[in-house]
Amino acid sequence: MASPTVLKFGGTSVKDAAAFERVGAIVRSHGGAHPVVVVSAMSGMTDALLGAGAAAAGDPTAARAGLEPLLERHREVARRLLSPGAAVGWCRELEGEARTLTALVERIARDAGADGALQDELAAYGERLAASLLSAVLEARGFRARYVDSRRCIVTTDEHPGAVPLLPETRTRTEGEIGPVLSRGEMPVLGGYIAAAADGVTTTLGRGGSDYSATLIGAALGAAEIQIWTDVSGVLTADPRTVRGARTIPRLSYAEAAELAFFGAKVLHPRTIQPARDGRIPVRICNSHAPDDPGTLVTAEADIWPETVKAIAHKQGITIIQVASARKLGAHGFLRALFDVFDRHGTAVDVVATSEVSVSLSVEETAALPQIVADLRRLGDVQVEPHRSVVCIVGEGLRGTPGIAARVFEAIRDINVVLVSQGASQVNLTFMVEDAEVGEVVNRLHAALLQRDGAGATVATPAARPRAGAPPDVFTLARQLIDIPSISGEEAGLARFLADYLAALGYRVALADAAPGRPNLFATTGAEPRVVLCTHLDTVPPFIGSHDDGESISGRGACDSKGILAAQIAAAERLRADGLAEVGLLYVVDEEMGSLGARAANAHPRARECRYVVVGEPTDNKLAVGCKGSLRLALRTSGTGGHSAYPERGTSAIDALLPVLTDLRGVSWPVDSFFGDTTVNIGVVAGGTRSNVLATDARADLHFRLVTDVEAVRQPLEETVAGRAEIEYLSVTPPVRLMALPGFEQCVVGFTTDTAHLGHWGTPLLLGPGSILEAHTAHERIAKAELSRGVDLYVRLVRSLLAGLGADRQGALAGARE
Ligand code: ADP
Ligand code: ASP
Ligand code: MG
Repeated sequence: MASPTVLKFGGTSVKDAAAFERVGAIVRSHGGAHPVVVVSAMSGMTDALLGAGAAAAGDPTAARAGLEPLLERHREVARRLLSPGAAVGWCRELEGEARTLTALVERIARDAGADGALQDELAAYGERLAASLLSAVLEARGFRARYVDSRRCIVTTDEHPGAVPLLPETRTRTEGEIGPVLSRGEMPVLGGYIAAAADGVTTTLGRGGSDYSATLIGAALGAAEIQIWTDVSGVLTADPRTVRGARTIPRLSYAEAAELAFFGAKVLHPRTIQPARDGRIPVRICNSHAPDDPGTLVTAEADIWPETVKAIAHKQGITIIQVASARKLGAHGFLRALFDVFDRHGTAVDVVATSEVSVSLSVEETAALPQIVADLRRLGDVQVEPHRSVVCIVGEGLRGTPGIAARVFEAIRDINVVLVSQGASQVNLTFMVEDAEVGEVVNRLHAALLQRDGAGATVATPAARPRAGAPPDVFTLARQLIDIPSISGEEAGLARFLADYLAALGYRVALADAAPGRPNLFATTGAEPRVVLCTHLDTVPPFIGSHDDGESISGRGACDSKGILAAQIAAAERLRADGLAEVGLLYVVDEEMGSLGARAANAHPRARECRYVVVGEPTDNKLAVGCKGSLRLALRTSGTGGHSAYPERGTSAIDALLPVLTDLRGVSWPVDSFFGDTTVNIGVVAGGTRSNVLATDARADLHFRLVTDVEAVRQPLEETVAGRAEIEYLSVTPPVRLMALPGFEQCVVGFTTDTAHLGHWGTPLLLGPGSILEAHTAHERIAKAELSRGVDLYVRLVRSLLAGLGADRQGALAGARE
């Protein structure tokens, strides 16, 4: 059986009848063939239950009565969404639960100081009722839904609250409970947050723990994807309640998402990521109020933004404890004794900073603080600072990026920072400030590090706007586009111009950030986009304005890719005028750097409607049937340094690097009968400081053009380097074979394109006017005749692809009639 998709709906996604309805629609559109649904308690329910537990000792009757409005919200959903008979049945079951709930509140009231187990038992009602109700609603909507008690699936330790899952047992139980349900073609519906210890006693996974339940269940079932449906469109660059301009981050690595969750991005429970990461399962965070928003995709791969920072998380109400060693134990013994204290009192330490004689730590949980401080006093002087906030800046690009800390602290130089630590994961920079100042700090940092609006947007938008129904003149449009600078990183002005231009023609246009301030553009005619014409918005530097010498148009991007953009838009207009509306336009950022735009676009929810994506790159108007892949890497060597007059007294990093490069130039790299030769370019050689100094560091940047699987290069490469240099692999794109079509001249191209990253958009094709040998040069130009021919070819190509789809549809209809 194909792998299931786990869909988790948070409390606000099931807050009332309308929200339950939306869940049904989302499961249908996004759940794939084998959905597994995990649901939180209706919003407010867990708070109310825990509140009742706490109030029970004082006045159990009032505590129980306080829950009545929440139970009524459940009945209301049942009455509105179930058939009258089913509603009566479900409400009858609810009355049974309500009675046991009353008994439980009374029991908690009797056992003054009732243990956590009873509180967990009480809290569990929220998820149990929501899951049972959702299961009934989904059944009423035609799904074969089946309520499964998650306490039979997730096995934990017996702490209360916040037990720790036992993974092997959880896997076995989950497979055993859910496997048969899926095999019967039914859809399991489970409550999140709740679990059970080995003896069957109810436990919980901590507040917000339903996200964690979803990834635990997803990992146990080997899910294809885990979707977290919430009330915001993915993980944002900061907490939207603090920063008004916070924006969706399209992609995060597991490490980044884990750090954000741990340091306060409430959208994910702190432990959510680990099970997904272990199982290498993609996690998507989506908005149940806007299901078509692309949201955030979390995978192993990271996008390294040039800005290096992706998001800022913060958490208030932290306590800092400083301990100055009494110097009796030595550094090693001191640290061990220190952590033993926290361990003994079951209190987790979040951030640590050490100096030779003192240690600062932060903790969130303060229940055991008095005992901890008493124990710590035996080790040295102790100071406690409450009301602190932790601020955590996250981004894969922080690894080894110099200067970032300077930018951060410059932005808040007038604010007192009390503790700083660079996370061991290397993807975060964390520090503490006073609670009262954290809002100001996060907003300033967001403005300094993540808001790119306006940066480089001094674009003179050409005045000419198209008129609906008047076909664009491809030459005029090409020049207009060339005259808008859009060097990688600064594509926003061009994207906005195109959005206005296409909207004026009557297209439905959406801009979605692939990175902050760097939007991809997607436009449709309103019909389903079966064939999408795609190219990139960015160019290489420097900007060069347009010129028309009568024969050709020149300027930056003339053939890569502004001319192509103009040709595609002109072609789409011609097709639309001929009644062929199933065409979309996808324009992405960053193709000239790391293909961030295409990678983000690949997660676009409408990709699945598309059957063919025609990527535009200058192929001299030929249909490329293959493009080589690429492997970028850096080699690094080091030396001891020293005076160059005595080279025998030291070693030089450059002397170490050169023989490695010479040996690599002698290797016979793989040859493929279809793609041709693997080639390698040593693009950068750098190192040393002066001719009279032995170099301490040297580096070479290499770029392979792959014709085989990367392993066929990696192996001889590593054998040749033989440990003499450190190899840092920067990016890999495999070679891609592309579709051929009769009637089009064919070629194989040596350059890498976005085709490899757009797999979700259907079968890729590659064609465009202009020559790659002109692209990236100072004299970049495109012949007007070639540009016009490009328009004709795009029209012809899309026509034959749509005709093929039409024939398939006709065939399918005929088959259905027979
Ligand atoms: P659910 O009930 O769906 O589990 P939560 O309330 O637990 O939803 O989490 C979603 C909320 O997390 C958002 O409404 C938002 O206020 C908050 N949040 C905090 N930081 C972030 C962030 N970086 N990105 C997105 N949301 C965040
Ligand atoms: N209902 C639980 C809570 O409110 C768990 C969750 O929503 O994820 O904490
Ligand atoms: Mg949550």
